[in-house]
Amino acid sequence: MKSRILSLLWASLCLAICLPAMAADAPARKSPPYIILKVDDLNNNGGEVHPRWQKFVDFTAERKIKSSIGIICNSLEKDDPKYFQWIKDQHAKGLIEFWNHGYTHKSWKEGDKTVYEFKDVPYEQQKKNLLRCNELAKQKLGFTLPAFGAGFNAIDENTAKALSEDPDTTIWLYGDKKNPAGKVVMDRVGSVNIENPTFVPSLQRFKAGYALNPTRDYFVIQGHPAQWTDERFAGFVELIDFLISEKAVFVTPSEFVKLKGLKPATTAKN
Ligand SMILES: [Zn+2]
Repeated sequence: MKSRILSLLWASLCLAICLPAMAADAPARKSPPYIILKVDDLNNNGGEVHPRWQKFVDFTAERKIKSSIGIICNSLEKDDPKYFQWIKDQHAKGLIEFWNHGYTHKSWKEGDKTVYEFKDVPYEQQKKNLLRCNELAKQKLGFTLPAFGAGFNAIDENTAKALSEDPDTTIWLYGDKKNPAGKVVMDRVGSVNIENPTFVPSLQRFKAGYALNPTRDYFVIQGHPAQWTDERFAGFVELIDFLISEKAVFVTPSEFVKLKGLKPATTAKN
C-alpha cells in the first residue's frame, strides 16, 4: 500500500517537474523568424473571388501582416473585370504578393501513374504553361508574378529546365534545391506548416514543429484559404496570433529576397 502511494506520488511529481523540464530542453529561439505566408489556389469563382479569400485578406489587413497568394493562372484567360480588379486592388495595397501557381493545377492518371502539370509532363508543355502565366499576368493585371510554386508541389527535372528559361520568375517556392534553375529557392520545413493535415490549420501541430527549429531563420508556410470553414479559419487566426506574440516578421517572397540580399541559383539560408 505504502509503495503504491509512493509510486503515485512519484508519478504526479514527474508530471509537475519532468514535462516542463523536457520542454525547456529545446533551446530557446534567439531571434524572431521571418514568416512567408504561401496561400494557394486563387481562382475565378463565377467572375469573383470566393468569399473566403475576402475573409483572408480582411484578416491579414487587420493584423497588418504581409502574405503571398498563388494564382491558378488559367483563371486569367477569360475577361472578368471584377475578378481582375480584386487582384489589382490587393496588389496596389502592398500587403500581398501574387505568384504563379501554374496554369491548370491539374493532375491525372496515365495508367497506374498520377501525372501532374509539372511532373512527368514533357518539357515543352511545362514551359508553355509556365510562360503563359506571366504573359497573362502582364496582359490582364499589369504586373508580373515574381515567384513560382507548382500545384501539389509536384516537380521534375523538366520543371527546372523550363523555369530556367522564364525571365519573369526570380523565386521558386518549395523548389528543387539541387537544381535551382537560376532562381532563389525558398524551401519548406515539413513539420512547420499552417495546415496539418492539408486544409486544416493547427496551432498545436505548428508549435510542435516550430519548437524543434529554434535556429531556422525563415519559414514558408502553406495554406488554402478557400478550404477554410469558420472553424478552420479560427485555427488560422490562433496560429497567426501566436506568431505575432513571437514577434515574427511577415514578409512577401520578394521582400525576403531583397532584405537578405539573396542571389539567384541559391537556396535561402536556413
Ligand atoms: Zn495548389
